[in-house]
Amino acid sequence: MLRDLTTFHLGGPAELYLEVKNKKDIIYAHNLAKKINLFVLGGGSDILVSDKGIKGIVIKIIDKTLKIKGNILVGRAGVVWDYLVEKSIQKGLSGIECLSGIPGTLGAAPIQNIGAYGQELADTFESLIAFDRKNNEFIKMNKKDCRFAYRDSIFKKEAGRYIIFEVTLKLKKDNTPKIKYDSLSFYLNENGINNPSLWDVRNAVLAIRKAKLEDWNIIGNAGSFFKNPEISKNDFQKLKKIIGEVPAYPTGNKVKIPAAFLIEKAGWKGKSFKTAAVSDKHALILINLGGKAKANDIKNLAEKIVLDVKQKYKIKLVPEVQLIGF
Ligand SMILES: Cc1cc2nc3c(=O)[nH]c(=O)nc-3n(C[C@H](O)[C@H](O)[C@H](O)COP(=O)(O)OP(=O)(O)OC[C@H]3O[C@@H](n4cnc5c(N)ncnc54)[C@H](O)[C@@H]3O)c2cc1C
Repeated sequence: MLRDLTTFHLGGPAELYLEVKNKKDIIYAHNLAKKINLFVLGGGSDILVSDKGIKGIVIKIIDKTLKIKGNILVGRAGVVWDYLVEKSIQKGLSGIECLSGIPGTLGAAPIQNIGAYGQELADTFESLIAFDRKNNEFIKMNKKDCRFAYRDSIFKKEAGRYIIFEVTLKLKKDNTPKIKYDSLSFYLNENGINNPSLWDVRNAVLAIRKAKLEDWNIIGNAGSFFKNPEISKNDFQKLKKIIGEVPAYPTGNKVKIPAAFLIEKAGWKGKSFKTAAVSDKHALILINLGGKAKANDIKNLAEKIVLDVKQKYKIKLVPEVQLIGF
C-alpha cells in the first residue's frame, strides 16, 4: 500500500510497484507503461495519494550512489536528500546547509526546486540526467532547461514527461556560510553563535524545524501544503486595507505573503474537518488526524481553506503538495 511509502501515511495500492536501479530498468518500466500511467515515487513527502491508490505503474529509483569530487556532487535519484546535505558539510562544502532536514530524495529535489531558510536547489544546481518519455531517450538538462522558479520547474509544468536519474550540484569550498534568512540569524544570535560554521547552520536549521514543524513519523503530513502566494504591489495594498499589517517579502515587482499568515488569520489554525486537521503548531501544515485520515478529507479541508481565504482576502492559495490518483 502506498500509505506505507508516503509521509502523510495515506494512499491506496499501486496497480504495479517496481523498484528500479539503473537506466535499463527505467527503459523497461517506460516500455511497460506505454499505454498506462507511470508515476515516479521518491520519498513520498510532497504528495497526497488517494485512498483508491494509483492506476498503472509506480516506480521508485533505489540507486543511492553518491560521488563527491572537489566541490562537485553527483548523486543518483534514490539518494536521501538530507544524507547528501550532511555529506556535503562533512567535506566543508557550502550551498545547501540551509536545506538541512528536508525529507525526500535527490531525484525529487528539482521537481519543486526545494527551498528553505534563504537557499533553494537552483542556487547550486549544475545539471541532471533524465529519461525523456516523450522522445524515448536519456538527456542531460542544465539549469536553464529546468526552468526553475519558486517551488516550480519544467518537471511540474510537463508532469510525467521526465524520469530524473542523476543530479549534479556544484557547491563552494567555504566554511563561512552567509545567512540570508531573518529567523535563522535570530536563532544563531540568540544562541551566541556569531560566526557560524556549516555545522552550526545545519544544527540551527534542524532545531528550528523540529520546534516549528510536525514530525511526519508521528503525525502524517507533507510539510507546507500551500505555496506562499506572490501578489502584485497593487493587490498588496488592497490586502492591507482588509487585513491591516501583513508580513511580506518583496520578490522583484511582486510581494510574497506567508500563506500560513492568511490561513491563521482566516481562523483555520488547529481546526479539524472529519479525519483531517490544520496543525496547531503551523497553519501551513495539514495533518492526518490520529493516523486514521481519509485522503479525501485532507483534500476537502484544503479546498475549504482555499475557498475561505479567497472569499476573505481575494487571494487564491495554490497547493505545493501534489494530489495523485483523485
Ligand atoms: C515535514 C516536511 C517538511 C518539508 N519541508 C520542506 C521544505 O522546507 N522545503 C521544500 O521545498 N519542501 C519541503 N517538504 C516537501 C518535500 O520534502 C520535498 O518537496 C521533497 O523534495 C519531496 O521529495 P520526495 O522524494 O519525497 O518526492 P515525492 O513526494 O515522492 O514526489 C514528489 C514529486 O516528485 C516526482 N518525483 C520524485 N522522484 C522523481 C524522479 N526521480 N524523477 C521524476 N519525478 C520524480 C513525483 O512523481 C512527484 O510528482 C517537506 C515535507 C515534509 C513532510
